[in-house]
Amino acid sequence: MKKGFLRKLITATLAFSLSTSLLIGCESKSTSVAKAGTYTATESGFGGDVTVNVTISDEGKISSIDVTADSETPTIGGEAAPKLAKTIVDTQSLAVDTVSGATYTSTAVINAVTTALTEAGADIKALKNNKVSKNGQNEEVNVDVVVVGAGGSGTAAALAASEAGLNVLVVEKNPSAGGNSKIASGFFAIGTELQKNEGLDLSVDKAVQDLMEFNQYLSNGTIVRKIVENAADTVEWLQGYGVEFYLPEKTTQLAHEDDLYKWKTYHKFVDQATAFENMYSNLENMGAKVVYNTSLETIIKNDDGVVTGITAKKEDGGILTVNASATIICTGGFGADSEKTAAALNSNLFNSLGMPNAGEGISAIEEIGGFDLDATPLLHACQFAESTVKQDSAGENLAGFSDTSLTQILNTPLLWVDTTGSRFTNEDVVYDTAFWANAAYTVGGKYYIIVDKATLEAFSNGTSLTVSQAGPGAKMDLDDFVKLADASVEAGTAFKGSTLEELAEATGMNATDLKATVERYNSMIEKGSDTDYGKASTSLAYKVESGDFYAFDVRGVFLGTIGGVKVDDNMQVMTTDFELIPGLYAAGTTAGGYYTGVGYPPYEGLACGFAYTSGRIAGTSAVNYVNSLK
Ligand SMILES: Cc1cc2nc3c(=O)[nH]c(=O)nc-3n(C[C@H](O)[C@H](O)[C@H](O)COP(=O)(O)OP(=O)(O)OC[C@H]3O[C@@H](n4cnc5c(N)ncnc54)[C@H](O)[C@@H]3O)c2cc1C
Repeated sequence: MKKGFLRKLITATLAFSLSTSLLIGCESKSTSVAKAGTYTATESGFGGDVTVNVTISDEGKISSIDVTADSETPTIGGEAAPKLAKTIVDTQSLAVDTVSGATYTSTAVINAVTTALTEAGADIKALKNNKVSKNGQNEEVNVDVVVVGAGGSGTAAALAASEAGLNVLVVEKNPSAGGNSKIASGFFAIGTELQKNEGLDLSVDKAVQDLMEFNQYLSNGTIVRKIVENAADTVEWLQGYGVEFYLPEKTTQLAHEDDLYKWKTYHKFVDQATAFENMYSNLENMGAKVVYNTSLETIIKNDDGVVTGITAKKEDGGILTVNASATIICTGGFGADSEKTAAALNSNLFNSLGMPNAGEGISAIEEIGGFDLDATPLLHACQFAESTVKQDSAGENLAGFSDTSLTQILNTPLLWVDTTGSRFTNEDVVYDTAFWANAAYTVGGKYYIIVDKATLEAFSNGTSLTVSQAGPGAKMDLDDFVKLADASVEAGTAFKGSTLEELAEATGMNATDLKATVERYNSMIEKGSDTDYGKASTSLAYKVESGDFYAFDVRGVFLGTIGGVKVDDNMQVMTTDFELIPGLYAAGTTAGGYYTGVGYPPYEGLACGFAYTSGRIAGTSAVNYVNSLK
């Protein structure tokens, strides 16, 4: 059992009755199936196995589906699995939609139920053709403020607007709140009580200058200043709503150790699930309403150019029109839009982690005159290709690396080559996750780690290299690395050759280039000096000398996107003419200006610091605007 998971049996025992084939908003023909009995099947979900027990009644109907999905992220797949099982029972159909945000778990449930029903002798084709027609009612509501997206930025915006006494509605596409913010670990802020208690005296001025310089003054100065100035207060404000933070005693990003601004600014969340529960119970107490499974469609702008609300699609297919004095879009970025991210990265070889935000908020803003200033994938760390381990909200394997001790090979500065066989970077970038992924970007998102068998044997006894523990970190157990590497070769995520020529052939590299790279690297190790890229002499540990030789396939990773539409420092959306759009605000990864420039600055927690602080600013700005209309 994985540590940190809430192990629970999710039971969706649902009494079948003929009347359930007619749902509120859903219609389906009932399709007779199979022999009576209970049938079991298991499929791989997001974090592990998803098992279903499908019971067929004497009438040949699906009378109940019990789901065990204890390895799934409790608040995502854990909630989606029984919900989907209920839909299958209610509709007697396999033509059901996956639950938004929980595609892996949903697919596992549908596939497992299909297997069980096949065993029961059901007519699978008929069940798949039994389309559920959605005929939900359209609805219309009037509120002061509508917040779209219930991640960190949207939640902060809703709290700020609600505490001012306004009537707030939050519209969320997924079945639960949190978004990427719920799987993130920490928050950048300067000057908090937590820092002061440790005797730290960090300067907002210096942090602003560092961030501006990092991005070569391409970021928006007023936004950077306002966020950094307000982040500490936002930490304390969130603490008041039940979000607990602590300052780490050391950083896992070893390259940051000498710069307190990079890591003693990282306020780690104690427990994100509880934090979101607390924030939402506070919101409810203040009278805010939240609708889930409801996805933004359009932003409504009147003839005077004023935004007056949104339309959104409900789960039952009906349209929800929200008339609002102020509209705040916090739908995150477009990490799930693989075409757009591939275009931005000039490569489709990167691995993507995070919630499947598809950029609807940014597109809807563009439709009514705003524009995308600087949205781009958030490059962060690397992982082995085809890793079967994905992130969970409990922190373990968060960034989706392999779960074996081979992660020590990934997280150390061994010899890295591009797909032609040439070395391309100082491998010590492994000690800074942003720079590490940036280095992978320069070679199209994919590189190989080259080692020989002797190196693997040395790792089996404990490596002399410092192993990075950033992100999920490496698994430090001693193991048989040759065996692990051979298993990767078997799985197609690593390659092996008894000679370098053979290895080059297996990977498609240029054998002459690879041999030249290896010879040069070995000679630099002998001299103890990396005259090409300046890697520390302590990292020049393992020559690549005699077969077998191995090449591990590694991919750069992005964590959703950062940047977004043009806003001013009140988070009010602007047109391409830099004119403010009345009534419309954006925050978090829907809003741009904070990072425009060369890349994601290596200051820990910057994205969450921006999400919550910009959300709070957007909420406060909306309050001022709504009050000005009265
Ligand atoms: C694995 C991982 C780890 C990370 N770790 C860190 C970290 O430690 N520190 C850090 O600073 N950053 C981290 N990040 C980045 C950070 O989490 C995000 O940049 C930040 O949380 C974005 O907040 P947000 O409110 O803009 O978006 P989100 O938190 O993603 O919220 C967007 C919300 O909008 C909803 N939504 C999307 N589309 C629609 C629609 N059409 N209609 C209605 N609702 C919609 C989504 O379902 C979601 O709930 C991490 C990211 C990932 C993926």
